[in-house]
Amino acid sequence: MDAMIQYFEAMPSLHRSLLLVGGLTLFFLIEQAVPLFSLTYNRTKHTLQNLFFTLTTVIINFAMAGILVLSAKWVTNNHFGIINWLDMPLWATIIVGLMLMDLVGAWLVHWVEHNVKFLWQFHVIHHTDQHVDTTTANRHHPGESVMRFLFTTAAVWIVGAPIWLVFLYQTCSLVLSQWNHSNMKMPESVDRILRLVVCTPNMHRVHHHYRQPYSDTNYGNIFSFWDRIFGTYSVVENTKLKYGVDTYMDKKEADSIGFLLKLPFIGHRPHIDYDTEEKL
Ligand SMILES: [Zn+2]
Repeated sequence: MDAMIQYFEAMPSLHRSLLLVGGLTLFFLIEQAVPLFSLTYNRTKHTLQNLFFTLTTVIINFAMAGILVLSAKWVTNNHFGIINWLDMPLWATIIVGLMLMDLVGAWLVHWVEHNVKFLWQFHVIHHTDQHVDTTTANRHHPGESVMRFLFTTAAVWIVGAPIWLVFLYQTCSLVLSQWNHSNMKMPESVDRILRLVVCTPNMHRVHHHYRQPYSDTNYGNIFSFWDRIFGTYSVVENTKLKYGVDTYMDKKEADSIGFLLKLPFIGHRPHIDYDTEEKL
């Protein structure tokens, strides 16, 4: 356990980059071998679009990383935050720390983005993808990347996370996100067991259905129980899903990087008010 802490305390940027590229490559190849939805779209074009938004996410996180490191140092030196106030053994500190980082840094920011109109205008870019796969994981408008960074920093303060816990959390968060967005076929029996604890592909895909109420469920990233606890958990047979978001189904808009970058600033399109609630 000490070796793991030492590793994450000084995790080299190169290893973080390799993890991003390695994870994407691994899940990309698995999707080619055992896809859930057949790969009928132009994968190269789709991948390049999503890699553009992944790159902006990486640049923003790299540029602001110093704030995260200083915050982690301050809370550790000043014994501030939940895990510093609770006197727990190391294994419990790791589990509770990861759970709370995931709650504030992923579930909560995601819920807020769906419920605050101004922030939805940024997050909707993630939902405009009509071919969800592992490259969708970091399809975030730069404005959303800043918002997510601020919530991760808030999580460090609330949790009292040392830097090794921050890097461990970010590693888990990245890999889980690449996996649960991937278009890989998962046997339902295996998925059902895994999603007792973690957010699986079969669970997260429901969140990418094109209309409410399903798009307002399954917000989680690492742990699946936050959605169960807060009443936002749903199960849908994945082959019934249609990806995208009803207000931006026009491919000319959904596939244009220029349009997506401008989208938050060109006025809000309210969700379509359907006569009947959809039951999948
Ligand atoms: Zn969402």
